Amino acid sequence: MTSKPSTPGHALPEGLHPDTLAVRVAIERSQYGENSEALYLTSGFVQPDSATSAARFASGDGYTYTRTSNPTVTMFEKRLAALEGTEAAIGAASGMGAILMMIMGLLKAGDHVVLSRSMFGSTLNLFGKEFAKFGVQTTFVSQTNVDEWRAAVQPNTRLLFAETPTNPLTELCDIAALADIAHQAGALLAVDNAFATPVLQRPASLGADLVMHSGTKYLDGQGRVMAGALCGSAELITGKFAPVMRTAGMVLSPFNAWVVLKGLETLSVRVKAHCQNALTVAQWLEAQPNVARVYYPGLPSHPQHALALRQMGGLGGGVVTFEVKGEGSEQLQRRAFHVIDSCSWLSIATNLGDTKTIVSHPATTSHGRLTEEQRMAAGMSQGVIRVAVGLEHPQDVMADLARGLDGCGALN
Ligand SMILES: *Cc1c(COP(=O)(O)O)cnc(C)c1O
Repeated sequence: MTSKPSTPGHALPEGLHPDTLAVRVAIERSQYGENSEALYLTSGFVQPDSATSAARFASGDGYTYTRTSNPTVTMFEKRLAALEGTEAAIGAASGMGAILMMIMGLLKAGDHVVLSRSMFGSTLNLFGKEFAKFGVQTTFVSQTNVDEWRAAVQPNTRLLFAETPTNPLTELCDIAALADIAHQAGALLAVDNAFATPVLQRPASLGADLVMHSGTKYLDGQGRVMAGALCGSAELITGKFAPVMRTAGMVLSPFNAWVVLKGLETLSVRVKAHCQNALTVAQWLEAQPNVARVYYPGLPSHPQHALALRQMGGLGGGVVTFEVKGEGSEQLQRRAFHVIDSCSWLSIATNLGDTKTIVSHPATTSHGRLTEEQRMAAGMSQGVIRVAVGLEHPQDVMADLARGLDGCGALN
């Protein structure tokens, strides 16, 4: 408490706000007193002597090798844990790497997981195909129907895994209700918080045991690096996941950790600006004659708007999805492609959480491997377009979307 801010190990007072923690918490400042967090781009750490080296290898305390730990990665982990309100966090090479670490750390052959059918596509593949090969069974349920989650629980259920809002149709699930179901069954609830970020919702405060992140999205915020993380109790992070990462090696690179660490400092202002721009675009889209439907939790027309107000602090996130009007798959696809291809500067890409607005056509990209029936059952027609709204002026974004939208109703 009495040490100066330039001293290594300097402690912060209690009770600081999240916006302050995002900038100030967990700085491992070196003897040089650098104000910006240092990037420790090194694979190994020189040990002062053999006895210290032996002690560090035995206890896992102190830095030895970057697959085990690295000061820049530690800064990111501690800061993200502070923002999510969990005791600890552990970085991973990507969001999918974090899920792999979670399953390797928690489950064994014969265990059972309950997962929403509307989860991120690679998550569905990982559980449905890869983990199934190792004897981990998964039941896929409705994103929004809590009774289906409850009914899917079996004696060997160890984990419920949810994502809210989902990609791209922005369906929510009630985190507190799912936490109750998980805990009554003696299972854990994990929540993928990549879309909402701790700025909009802190799943741990609603009862989730684990919070999973793709740092590639809003935490980085400028579409530069791959990163992932798991947040939870110190017991789970150091007891279950650190040993997996140390041996399996889905480790977060120090450079990528540094990028997302600095991204956390501006996360709150960026996410709020994304939400404001997205709401403006969503309201405008709802008024367009060639738009059949808009999916955005911040709109009163969203079926779960009340839950969004309660669970996401009244904000809707940065992703707006809409469907163009039309009849039949071919016409819908022609019109959607026309809208996307008429944009003169919006990016056609599949990531999100970038300063740059990104438009994508889920039916032929992220959801392209589903059958037409599966897609229609999920409400994902060929007319659906996802807009991951960036930080450009929303009027310019709307003008670029209008280029193709204004005339698309005339296309057969
Ligand atoms: C991108 C994404 C992931 C996967 O993260 P990567 O960093 O790309 O591995 C998982 N869940 C959601 C919701 C995502 O948007």
